[in-house]
Amino acid sequence: MDKRLLSVIVPCFNEEANIAYFYDELMKNEQFFESKDLELELIYVDDGSKDQTVGEVKKLRDKDERVRLVSFSRNFGKEAAIYAGFVKAKGDYAVIMDADLQDPPSLLPEMFGYIEEGYDSVATRRVSRKGEPPIRSFFARRFYRLMNKISHADIVDGARDYRLMTRQVVDAILSLGEYNRFSKGIFGWVGFNTKWIEYENIERLKGETKWNFWGLFLYSLEGIVAFSTMPLALASILGVVFCFMAFILILFILIRSLFWHDPTPGWQSLTCIISLVSGVQLLCLGIVGQYLSKTYMEVKNRPKYLIKEEI
Ligand code: UDP
Ligand code: MG
Repeated sequence: MDKRLLSVIVPCFNEEANIAYFYDELMKNEQFFESKDLELELIYVDDGSKDQTVGEVKKLRDKDERVRLVSFSRNFGKEAAIYAGFVKAKGDYAVIMDADLQDPPSLLPEMFGYIEEGYDSVATRRVSRKGEPPIRSFFARRFYRLMNKISHADIVDGARDYRLMTRQVVDAILSLGEYNRFSKGIFGWVGFNTKWIEYENIERLKGETKWNFWGLFLYSLEGIVAFSTMPLALASILGVVFCFMAFILILFILIRSLFWHDPTPGWQSLTCIISLVSGVQLLCLGIVGQYLSKTYMEVKNRPKYLIKEEI
């Protein structure tokens, strides 16, 4: 059998404590890789870390030629790191794994088995959210529900970015050149035969998660704007509903003053109506603004990342 290449893409942002552990853990599969005639290429994408992440990767590189490093000029976000990893990957297969060992490398043999069975991509989802604040889990669930109602992206609750895929899928993902990247949506959008495997949530090895509640909230908005135009339709629908209500109200007042010569009392109700309607208007303006700002960023066509160093 011909040798095949597997690219392991590891986005890292301030992960100095985890780099070596991750490497050791991955290498526990060495025998498996050999038995399958799989060669390895380890692409560490340093997303502008402020700690010794780059140094740690270089140490690995000194003892293992298969280690590659792509280091960004600043923090561009995990999405950019994933994209850079795909661009740099030469493998017949590629897999994305977090550096904090929340994506257990021990699952790789099973995942690869499914690829050999003919699946194009093997995705993972965690079935529990152990170790996560309950409020975060609650909003995450609502988000996934909503996303699947309003978009075609087919996003699975608890899906991780830990995915093994064939070259064909990697090329498909690269063909989506958008600036505002929402990988969970992109993976679903490109389609292909995907096998889902499940595992219990594992808490990160060392260091802290880069996500706080507000960050996740903004990220979810990003996902919605990137994969659905439903909010725009909602803005129009609200507009129509309020016009209709206003029309009825005008008729009502007109008829009342024409036939019954009733003065229209109640400035309080008027104030309420004005505040409500202007609130809705601002909301809709905000929705349009969201899309406009995303379009603005796309039109600028800036690079998704800048490389400072590459080995
Ligand atoms: N990460 C990154 N850039 C960022 C934030 C995170 O490359 O701006 C990496 C991080 O080093 C880790 C992975 O993305 O390998 C997942 O990050 P984290 O563990 O903070 O997220 P969580 O697992 O809590 O979703
Ligand atoms: Mg993590």
